[in-house]
Amino acid sequence: MTENLDSFYDYLIVGQGIAGTSLAWHLHNSGKKILVVNDSSLPSSSKVAAGIFNPLTGKKLVKTWLADDIFPYAQTFYSGLEEKLDAKIIHQTSIYRPFRSIEEQNSYLSRTSDPGIASYIQDTKREIIPEHVHTPYGGMEVIQSGWVDLPVLLEKSTEYFTKNNLLLEAPFDAKDLIFSEEHVIWKDKTFDKVILCQGYLAKDNKYFSWLPFTPVKGEILEVEIENITGDQIVNQGIFILPVSGTACRVGATYSWENLNWEITEIAREELEEKLKPILKVPYKISGQSAGIRPSSHDRRPMLGIHPDQPRLGIFNGLGTKGVTLAPFFAKELAEYLVHHKELSEAVNIKRYFSLYFR
Ligand SMILES: Cc1cc2nc3c(=O)[nH]c(=O)nc-3n(C[C@H](O)[C@H](O)[C@H](O)COP(=O)(O)OP(=O)(O)OC[C@H]3O[C@@H](n4cnc5c(N)ncnc54)[C@H](O)[C@@H]3O)c2cc1C
Repeated sequence: MTENLDSFYDYLIVGQGIAGTSLAWHLHNSGKKILVVNDSSLPSSSKVAAGIFNPLTGKKLVKTWLADDIFPYAQTFYSGLEEKLDAKIIHQTSIYRPFRSIEEQNSYLSRTSDPGIASYIQDTKREIIPEHVHTPYGGMEVIQSGWVDLPVLLEKSTEYFTKNNLLLEAPFDAKDLIFSEEHVIWKDKTFDKVILCQGYLAKDNKYFSWLPFTPVKGEILEVEIENITGDQIVNQGIFILPVSGTACRVGATYSWENLNWEITEIAREELEEKLKPILKVPYKISGQSAGIRPSSHDRRPMLGIHPDQPRLGIFNGLGTKGVTLAPFFAKELAEYLVHHKELSEAVNIKRYFSLYFR
């Protein structure tokens, strides 16, 4: 029997959030024949995310894991897509962190002597202080930061994939996969491998439900802020991200309970309580959204091939930092798939195989 080449693909990618989209671009750019299947009626964390990339996080000003490698790569990747898709996707802007007290000022400033983080902090002589926020104790400007417009990136990628017959809008059920030694069949199509990029919904997939997903719900507000000055992100417990004109996103909450996609009054109150003392100017809430971050037990991405099914892989665990982790590890996964380059131990799902065989 001759094989129908039209229905033979190298890879089926399940899910078109930032994980599936990044992987699809890398495999497509390396000349592989791909099909992405996505059900846009399902919730997606990427559609809710603020899209911020921040090299120094938390009260202790900790450098983001692999920041020196993953940030430059993410910028190259998103800039390349801007050109290809003719759209503004990446916004380079600093993050202003007002100090809460003299003690905080002292402890932050002492951290800046660390040569590992100094390159991510603006020289005080060049610092820009946002006028719409209270800064009685001064602050610090983090640089090499910004945000990615995920709605634009996803929508433009969807348009491109659709136009080039690379995307199928449909539900996927792992029960429909038929594996053989030579290939895997899904519906009437044949693939070399299937890679699942389902975000939090992967927990319902019987092949990978043994992975230690530690999902975290998050909510953000859409807020109109009067007289906002500049495009800087402000970060003090929460972030205030100016998106366009007076429209801003304010977030985010973190909750390990009630893992659903519903917005809550408690989250709105929590965010407003943190917002009010920071702002000098009036604001109005215009919207709210909720999502579930696909985090893992050790907070590292989870990628690789199923222990018993060599034609089935996963790209997940992007947690709170999908914007910067997705491009870098999509490249790593694509190099593994195409050129058999080993995956890093820190992200390879092999580290959890004992949970599968237990
Ligand atoms: C409130 C909030 C704020 C955030 N802010 C930031 C931020 O500022 N910066 C940052 O880097 N990260 C942020 N994140 C985290 C970020 O959203 C995630 O890391 C990232 O979006 C995960 O992407 P993903 O592609 O793995 O999953 P998802 O975006 O959830 O995508 C999964 C896709 O798979 C599809 N799918 C699933 N199952 C099926 C099926 N059976 N059939 C067909 N399709 C299916 C879904 O439709 C969806 O499109 C935030 C998250 C939240 C909730």
